[in-house]
Amino acid sequence: MCAAIYAARNGAEVTLIEKNSQLGKKLSMTGNGRCNLSNMNMNEKMYNPAAEKRIKQWLSVYGVLDVINFFKSLGIVVKSEDGYLYPMSGQASTVVTAFENELKRLGVSVVYNEQVKSVKVHKESDDAECYTVTTNNNAYECDRVILSTGALAGAKSTMSTGDGYYICKQLGLSVKDTFPALVGFKCDENEIMPEGGVRCTAEISFHLGNEVIASEYGELQFVKDGISGIPVMQASSKVVRFLSEGKPIVAAVNFFPDHDEGDFLSLEKEMLRLRDDRSLKEFLNGFYNSNINDMIIRRMKMSSSMKMKNISESMVLSIFDYYRNCKIRLKESYGYQQAQVTSGGVSLGDIRDDMTVKDHNGIFVTGELADVDGRCGGYNLQWAFTSGSIAGTVASL
Ligand SMILES: Cc1cc2nc3c(=O)[nH]c(=O)nc-3n(C[C@H](O)[C@H](O)[C@H](O)COP(=O)(O)OP(=O)(O)OC[C@H]3O[C@@H](n4cnc5c(N)ncnc54)[C@H](O)[C@@H]3O)c2cc1C
Repeated sequence: MCAAIYAARNGAEVTLIEKNSQLGKKLSMTGNGRCNLSNMNMNEKMYNPAAEKRIKQWLSVYGVLDVINFFKSLGIVVKSEDGYLYPMSGQASTVVTAFENELKRLGVSVVYNEQVKSVKVHKESDDAECYTVTTNNNAYECDRVILSTGALAGAKSTMSTGDGYYICKQLGLSVKDTFPALVGFKCDENEIMPEGGVRCTAEISFHLGNEVIASEYGELQFVKDGISGIPVMQASSKVVRFLSEGKPIVAAVNFFPDHDEGDFLSLEKEMLRLRDDRSLKEFLNGFYNSNINDMIIRRMKMSSSMKMKNISESMVLSIFDYYRNCKIRLKESYGYQQAQVTSGGVSLGDIRDDMTVKDHNGIFVTGELADVDGRCGGYNLQWAFTSGSIAGTVASL
């Protein structure tokens, strides 16, 4: 939509082909329905390492301020919440409507319920080509094609089935292996997990043997069979690759990330004074979330009714240790339908600075289809807008 708007604003005659019955289905779900459209803390380190260098260049062409001004031009007021940018309306649906209205105003022809199947290249001369875009229903002749099909992440209703990969492969482009990213993880079936869901601020690190693959801090979510929440999602694109290779990844959770060694020692000391007639359950009540307490008691194969006076000091210290290093073996990610973005995709080696692809001056690749994935926080939409605006502008030249 963004590419179509930029191309049409520059005078191009544009047809937007959408396989869904509505535009922007995924966009309307973003940011928990609020659309976190970009972030003031923007730099290339927020993206996958393979993309960093190129992203730096692309963001210098079209960055955060350009997105804000673009939204302004659509009549969308943007607000910052600690640097996270949202539409003032607080509704992603208003962003979709603004895009739709602008497409209409610019006379872009929008075709719904048609799935692009292939792009055929016709050579007109050594450096000029035109294209036939074939859908399940029609064939469209055109001078430029912008592929913005998204990728594989998102609920079924978003129809994210990775069609673009197939089309790009037909065009001779290389597509890197894909993985779900910004996603939570199921844990090993034998792991003892909390009975009820828990949200807590924690530090979580992911280990392959002695190597720490990723470490994050934030609101962790324990769900019935695994872990999720922003810190898990942020680490996911690194972790998921190891799991898919069958490598054993263990997550270690520190439930007291804001206590340094000294703070925790004094807390332990204070708690140890309460080793009396009370039960272990009673002792831990108020120390931490009761579902986490129960989980740790079960993991340590203890009984919650044990009297504290019968539990040795060293055993109590081992219980406390568990709160700072609770190990959870991971099994797999929750998959593409729960993921917010796809890691991998069309190799950036095959995409030029102007978003055209190798060997074809009139075919462009944008957004999630390319091998770019950002952290949570508006980075993926920023990339979609950056790549879309560059492609749309260049396509109209
Ligand atoms: C639940 C959820 C929440 C998210 N929240 C955020 C957030 O707050 N901030 C953020 O930065 N990112 C967020 N993301 C990620 C962000 O939505 C994507 O990175 C972004 O939408 C990618 O844009 P795109 O244009 O490349 O692809 P998409 O938005 O997926 O759009 C692709 C379009 O192409 C259509 N299409 C696909 N194949 C074909 C075909 N063969 N023929 C015709 N049409 C086709 C699809 O129907 C779709 O309309 C979220 C993702 C999810 C799933």
